[in-house]
Formats: sequence, structure tokens, C-alpha cells
Amino acid sequence: MASPYRSLPSVDRFLSDDRILRLVSSYSREAVLDLVKAQLDDTRRAITSGAEAPALDELVDAIEARASAQWSPWPAPIINATGVILHTNLGRAPLSHEATEAARLAATGYSDLELDLHTGRRGSRQAYIGSLLCQLTGAEAAIVVNNNAAAILLGLAAIAAGKEVIVSRGEAIEIGGGFRIPDVLRQSGAILVEVGTTNRTYVRDFEAAITEDTGAFLSAHASNFRVTGFTHSPELSELVEAGRQRGIIVLHDLGSGCLLDTSRYGLAHEPTPQESVRAGAGLAFFSGDKLLGGPQAGIVVGKQHLIDVVSKHPLARAVRIDKLSIAALSATLLHYIKQEAEEKVPVWRMIAMPLSRLEATSRRWSEALGPRASVADSLSTIGGGSLPGETLPSRVVSIDTTGYRGGAEVLAQRLREGRPPIVGRIEDERILIDPRTVLPEDEEALLRGVRQALS
Ligand SMILES: *Cc1c(COP(=O)(O)O)cnc(C)c1O
Repeated sequence: MASPYRSLPSVDRFLSDDRILRLVSSYSREAVLDLVKAQLDDTRRAITSGAEAPALDELVDAIEARASAQWSPWPAPIINATGVILHTNLGRAPLSHEATEAARLAATGYSDLELDLHTGRRGSRQAYIGSLLCQLTGAEAAIVVNNNAAAILLGLAAIAAGKEVIVSRGEAIEIGGGFRIPDVLRQSGAILVEVGTTNRTYVRDFEAAITEDTGAFLSAHASNFRVTGFTHSPELSELVEAGRQRGIIVLHDLGSGCLLDTSRYGLAHEPTPQESVRAGAGLAFFSGDKLLGGPQAGIVVGKQHLIDVVSKHPLARAVRIDKLSIAALSATLLHYIKQEAEEKVPVWRMIAMPLSRLEATSRRWSEALGPRASVADSLSTIGGGSLPGETLPSRVVSIDTTGYRGGAEVLAQRLREGRPPIVGRIEDERILIDPRTVLPEDEEALLRGVRQALS
């Protein structure tokens, strides 16, 4: 009997196949040959374990699938129908049109990123963005780095390395992704001194822990959990006052970097950088891509002499922000200067979206999607380590999966594997599609995708 491997086409045979030649012209001969060989290896292994030798066409199908899985541009855009506005797994904040355009321009050509056009001398990539941040927060100075985790590491290293940093036990927290305040403190070279208890800490606990070696008080906003009931934590202004008498700086990790008042939208009040500056924090740290609604970035605002020390620390260069992000961030900050954030910054447009509009959209979509779809009450959330437990009432499309083969899990998978992928929420064997987080330009693709997955 002839060996089943014998019936496998040779590598040369593949190179005369039309579809393989098309792949060669899209990618390269070398790259496609590697795929062909990898496919043949896998097929031989399958034959050894008893599989039949596949036909040439099937092998080419598999090679095409490999090419598209390995070499498609990534990350792929998806439609976020979860109603979670800042979804870390989905890339946090979508950018405004202006921010995207600014990043595109910075990416495409050359720019005056570090050139003073007036003098022709070297300029600073921090000067312009720093001035916008000072206008918006009232701070004396600012510096922007790669992300907030880096900003905190840099700030602690510059201000408190080798010194004691006093933190409330209730704020020695983990942010997520392995970022823990005590670990970052140690990495910075500072020495953690925890005071108070998990639920109650007073200013006097901080005062009692002060020694000659105290470098700073650190206050971290509990951004992804809530402690309720019998709790107490000192006001930032109380810490500042207690520190002032002994020459101790207060560092404030705000987390989100929310410049607008969330209570106007029926949400709990999220502390703002402006409040932190007003209360007298030496340095306040926050993210660019949470409630600020911009690109990934870490922002530090505060007193001039402290920002000077931070800027000169060697780590500042190691955590420098890149030009695409700084361009997108400056465009995002301009929306706040022009007081148009609610209309232009996508996360704020989503937060501010009126229920009547969500209702109308869900009604339209549910009519377009047929008998399985109906309009239901639900809740959108902020997500992304901001306003834990806070929700916004929403009106969503609910897709009933009764009788759908495989149920809600399979439908959700088909939606995720569609083009573009759609991510919804599963609740009681239903798929919920929340229009709040779907960008207006994605409406048609969403309806097409859901119809296809249902068919
Ligand atoms: C999210 C968060 C961080 C980390 O910010 P990144 O920009 O993700 O690095 C730090 N501290 C707090 C309180 C946060 O919520």
C-alpha cells in the first residue's frame, strides 16, 4: 500500500496554485513558503494519528486561513455593545475625531515636537501640553509620561526615594493588572509606612507616623472598589494642612483624571485634578485614557519646584510619552478648553447620552433585527477603574436566544468572530446590545453583523 504521505502535494505544486500565488503577491514568497511547510508538517502529523490525506484545495483553504490569522493588521476594530464605557480589554477610551486626526498628522510627517520655531533651537515636548494642563487644573506646572503607573513610579522615585511614604492602610490598593501601590512604592526606592485600619484612617494616624525620614504622604483614590459602612479617610486638604506644618508633601493618585463634574450626570462625584490642586496637593497623578477620554498617558500636575525635580529624574526619559499620544492628548485637552468635551469627547458623549435617544435607537434597531429582538431596561457602567458600582440607566436591545442552537454563549461567540467583531453582554440567556457605547458610524455594521449571526 502506498504511504498516505505520498498523496500530499509537493511544495512546488503549491507554488503553481492560483490562490497561493495570490498570497505570495500580497505577502512574500518566503513568508508563504513557511506557511505551506507548517501546514504540511501539521497534516503529516494528523495523518500519522489516523486522519485521511486532505485534497489540495482543503490544504490551500487552511493556508489562507493561517495567513489571515497571522498577518492581518492588529488590533482589529470591534464594536463595543457592552455598555461599559471604559473597557480595559477593549482599549479604554475611544478618541475624538480631532484627537485621531492630530495623532495621524504627528505620525505621518515631521512636526515641531521638540523644536522652538521662533528661535530655531531645541524645544520641549512638555511645554505646550503643560500649559494646557495648567489652564485646566489651576496647577503651577505639569509633566506628561507614558501612563499613570509610570507617572506614580517616577513621582515617588524623584520625590521620595530612600524616604518613608505614609499611606492609609485602606489605600494600599491593587489597581489591576498587577499594579499594587505597595509594590510600586518599593520599586521607586521609597519605604512604605502603612497607617490606620482598612476601613478607618484619620489625619492623626498620619501625624503620629511622621519621623525625620518621612518624604511624603500618599493618597490613592480607590478607583475600582468601594468600602461602605463604618469608614473614614482624611480629606486631602486635611493631609495637606498636616503636612504643611512639618514640610511634608502630599502626593495624590487620582486614577481617572476626570475634569468634569460627574454628579451632573446622576453619578457619584469623582474627584477631579482641579480639586486636588486647590486642596494643595504637591503632585496629583492621573491617566489620559480613563475619564479624560484621551490616549494612554500619565499626567502629573502640581507645584513647579516638584515638577522640576520630577522632570530631571533619569526615569523621566525612560517613561517618556510618544509623539502620537501627546498629539492626541493635546487635541483632547483643547476640547475641554473650548468647553465642548460633552459633545466631542466620545466617553463624555456616551455618559451624557439621554435616555430618550437610547430608547429611540434601541427601538429602531430592534425593529430592524426582527422577532427575537426587543427593547429592555438595563444599566451601562463607566468601567476602567472609574466610579465602581456606579451605573447609568440605559435602554438596550435584548436578543432572545430561545431555540437558537448553542444558546446565548454560541451567539455571543459568533458575534465576536464576525467582521467587524461585536461584543455584547450575556444576561439570562439573552444578548444585550447597549447603544450607549456603539459609535454612530458603526450602526450599519452592527445591524448587519447581528443579522448574520442570527441567520
Ligand atoms: C488606573 C489607575 C492607575 C494606573 O493608571 P494607568 O494609566 O492605567 O497606568 C493608577 N492608580 C489608580 C488609582 C488608577 O485607577
